[in-house]
Amino acid sequence: ATPTALLVGTGRGAQLGILIKGPEVLESTRTIDTVVLDKTGTVTTGRMTLIDVVLPGGDAVTAAAAAGARAELLRLAGALEHASEHPIAQAIARGADDETGPLPSAESFQNVPGKGVSGIVEGHAVIVGRESLLSDWALAVPAKLAAAKASAEARGRTAVLAAWDGEVRGLFIVADQVKPTSAEAVAQLRALGLTPVLLTGDNAAAARAIADEVGIERVIAEVLPEDKVAVISELQSEGRVVAMVGDGVNDAAALAQADLGLAMGTGTDAAIEASDITLVRGDLRSAADAIRLSRATLGTIK
Ligand code: ADP
Ligand code: MG
Repeated sequence: ATPTALLVGTGRGAQLGILIKGPEVLESTRTIDTVVLDKTGTVTTGRMTLIDVVLPGGDAVTAAAAAGARAELLRLAGALEHASEHPIAQAIARGADDETGPLPSAESFQNVPGKGVSGIVEGHAVIVGRESLLSDWALAVPAKLAAAKASAEARGRTAVLAAWDGEVRGLFIVADQVKPTSAEAVAQLRALGLTPVLLTGDNAAAARAIADEVGIERVIAEVLPEDKVAVISELQSEGRVVAMVGDGVNDAAALAQADLGLAMGTGTDAAIEASDITLVRGDLRSAADAIRLSRATLGTIK
């Protein structure tokens, strides 16, 4: 490999919004056969919106009582999520603030990575998160909420539960959007002979729906943040040479473990630092451009 050719390739990358950490990075793309894509913030925009609030209900509940229950649910869960930086949390806090006005502040707050949040709001012990977090507290999901959750997830949405003082009080449905260029990017990666894999901490049904929307067959879902790196190692032990594209703090270790790590420039510093390549535009098509560019660069060297 002549240093000049590598330098030219690196320079061309910069013009395309592909920042390559060093000339040796181009070499490492040569044998990549699998591209692992983080879902939230990479394939999707990661900007979530609260689209529905479901109460456990019961036939005896009057309209006034239901309105009161909804307001209290938004206030207590919104206050707790206000303390979290997670995109789901921000969607809930924003939705709650829009509907009920200024939120109280949480008296205590604890983040449970990959699961949700817990804390004290107005003297109540509040939990907001996925079903497994509620199970940790021995709370069972009422049938109506379980049904609403399943149908939301089948449509690619994320549904989280809220509980306080030992009772499940409601379900929040949040929606994220697939970036307009993601499906085309996946098609380009396939055309380069690469196998795309979707990796996420989100539930399997929502992940499947997003994967179908962009044309990905293999989905690895419900992976805790600390386990994403192990997923990469496993794929490598299957004999695959793995590129990973991600944006989050929880992707950093996996990006470093991958044979080639690509960070969304719109993502966190931790992801960018752990990666070999930064895709400045946050457009997944740049991942395909990067592979194409290195192949072209290496092609001129051989
Ligand atoms: P991803 O890999 O999609 O970014 P995370 O690992 O951050 O997902 O979170 C996995 C799941 O844990 C979420 O889909 C959600 O169900 C739950 N969760 C995490 N943080 C929160 C939070 N602050 N509020 C509610 N639910 C949360
Ligand atoms: Mg992400």
